[in-house]
Amino acid sequence: MVIYMNKKVFLAVLVSCLMVFTAFLFIKYKMASQIASQTPINQGNPVIIIDAGHGGVDGGAVGRNGVEEKEINLKIALKLNELLQCTGYNTVMIRTEDICLADDDAKSIKAKKTSDLHNRMAIMKKYEDAIFVSIHQNSYYGSKAAGTQVFYSPNSKESETLADLIQSSVKNGLQPDNKRLTKKADSSIYLLYSAKKTAVMVECGFLSDYDENLKLCNSEYQEQLAFYIAEGIKTFLNE
Ligand SMILES: [Zn+2]
Repeated sequence: MVIYMNKKVFLAVLVSCLMVFTAFLFIKYKMASQIASQTPINQGNPVIIIDAGHGGVDGGAVGRNGVEEKEINLKIALKLNELLQCTGYNTVMIRTEDICLADDDAKSIKAKKTSDLHNRMAIMKKYEDAIFVSIHQNSYYGSKAAGTQVFYSPNSKESETLADLIQSSVKNGLQPDNKRLTKKADSSIYLLYSAKKTAVMVECGFLSDYDENLKLCNSEYQEQLAFYIAEGIKTFLNE
């Protein structure tokens, strides 16, 4: 009986220890994934903040085949990050997995989306000498619409220049028929509208277009998009 009790106590202690350890691992994991992933920053070089739009409860637009925008955004953002890092650029990724950056006290979907945007903005503000590149997908069911379009922050001339360079890089390399022009962001695009640094948003393509939806789900096409976006960024930083 005594031995049985001791065994019970021992088991209880063991289970408690395991629970504490699991909680510790979970918190560590959560913090690591929520805080923007970053490589060591080479002093003096600008930082490129890569923002994969939406995530977690906020799926963004939905494609013709049911794909969620957040998923495509992340895939292209990760490829872009890899390309820029390979060339020696400093990058910071706002998210590297399917998460929403909202604070824990944000309960409704609307509150979560607002909190998420504020936390993205806080990361943007953290890096002084940085440019901000947000990756999104478009959707428009009114008529046939396709092709990349880059939006820019109204607060700096550099933002427009960066947007133009990315737009023409993608057009020349990948979408020769794309007639779209870059566009100044209005207040509906909070991050660009409030940005105090060079900031653009690349709407890579239209999930509402049957053909483009399929292309955007293709890994090779995502790779090509990332490549031409990176080329535009590099031209901007080298100018
Ligand atoms: Zn979006």
